[in-house]
Amino acid sequence: MNEFATHSPYPMIPFEQAMAIVWQQIGPLAPRRVALDDALGLALAEEVRAEGPHPPFAASTMDGYAIRAADGVAPRRVLAEQEAGRVLDVAVEAGTCVRIMTGAPLPTGADAVIPVELTEERDGWMQAQAALEPGRNVRPVGADLAAGQRALPEGTALGPAEIGLLASLGISQPSVYPRPRVAILATGDELVGQGQPLAPGQIRDSNSYILMAAVRSIGCEPIRMPRIADTRDALRQALLAAAPQADLVLTTGGVSMGTRDLVKPVLEELGVVHFGRVAIQPGKPLTFASVQSTPVQSTPVLGLPGNPVSTLVGFEMVVRPMLREMANLRARHRPEREVRLRQPVRHDPERLEFHRARLQYEDGGWWAVTTGSQSSSRLLSLVGADALLCIPQGVGNLPEGAQVRAILIHEPESEELPGLYDG
Ligand code: AMP
Ligand code: MG
Repeated sequence: MNEFATHSPYPMIPFEQAMAIVWQQIGPLAPRRVALDDALGLALAEEVRAEGPHPPFAASTMDGYAIRAADGVAPRRVLAEQEAGRVLDVAVEAGTCVRIMTGAPLPTGADAVIPVELTEERDGWMQAQAALEPGRNVRPVGADLAAGQRALPEGTALGPAEIGLLASLGISQPSVYPRPRVAILATGDELVGQGQPLAPGQIRDSNSYILMAAVRSIGCEPIRMPRIADTRDALRQALLAAAPQADLVLTTGGVSMGTRDLVKPVLEELGVVHFGRVAIQPGKPLTFASVQSTPVQSTPVLGLPGNPVSTLVGFEMVVRPMLREMANLRARHRPEREVRLRQPVRHDPERLEFHRARLQYEDGGWWAVTTGSQSSSRLLSLVGADALLCIPQGVGNLPEGAQVRAILIHEPESEELPGLYDG
């Protein structure tokens, strides 16, 4: 039987210091080319320019008649019909016109398109109801981009519009920072998966499902690994199997003071533990390490505490920005908002607390309503929460009406550094 250790060998470091260590250890992944269909949400690793003018030919923006504007409202003979997708061998001369469809190339000689609604056609002649100036309803060559012009700067996060622009320029394999692959390892002898009965003393593994979903929600690629028993051998094998196939390994459980909490000692064996305790609530035993995954490469490992709320808050506050850094996305942190407390909040001044709350807008200001018991095992404290209220170290209990910073956990990341990092 293992003995209890009575105190941790790891110093408890402030959150900002922990994040500073994280930023020293990780950085953007090496760029590579991916198919456009796989590029959503990724950051461009190269500037993209238009090779030629875009669009490459003058086209009609209306269904109507390609005309010479100078003919005014004189009747015109209809020479042919110009559809989208091919080029007719016909020239529009004075007193003539060509039926034309939206997107079709403007025939030689024409300089405007009159919409069908402003015309009448009979016996091969078209009568316009109005005169148009040259250029009307024509999309000129290079209207969007001149040859060589920059279409997208390096670093652009690719959304549907950006992917569409790349497609229209024929860039089928843009160079991007790839989607980080994240291996997920839940540790714990007590854990049972879905679809099996629970024996006395067993609980269902929720953390691996939380992390699979959280990793996917940020556009990264989760890799589900088998659940791990609380033995050194099982942990060692699992970490060595996971590290070479992942850009980041996440473990849950096994990082606190129990006799079977063996993640830290095994990480020490396989690499370097950068920190093993952080002054945050929930999530104090949060652990960060690098393990040697191949002779030439090491993989970062984040050991998240076993309680599901600690796991998800740790993901939110630490793993999310890490993954966005690896993907080289500039917007890395959730936005914040100043809010006031609807109720008094008890706070342990030893640690930075992330208190789960719902936000309400009332009387011209934002108010935070606690989600109730903040126990680290109570997932209901996160279900329906909009925000993590940041109560810094040293603050202590807060009265109703006190002003606090709220991290908005459903808002997209912004490029601003949150006040949390002010120290
Ligand atoms: P540990 O850090 O391993 O001592 O775990 C702390 C608490 O979290 C214990 O009550 C565990 O049973 C619980 N726990 C650990 N892993 C999981 C998991 N994957 N899903 C749900 N609860 C867990
Ligand atoms: Mg455990």
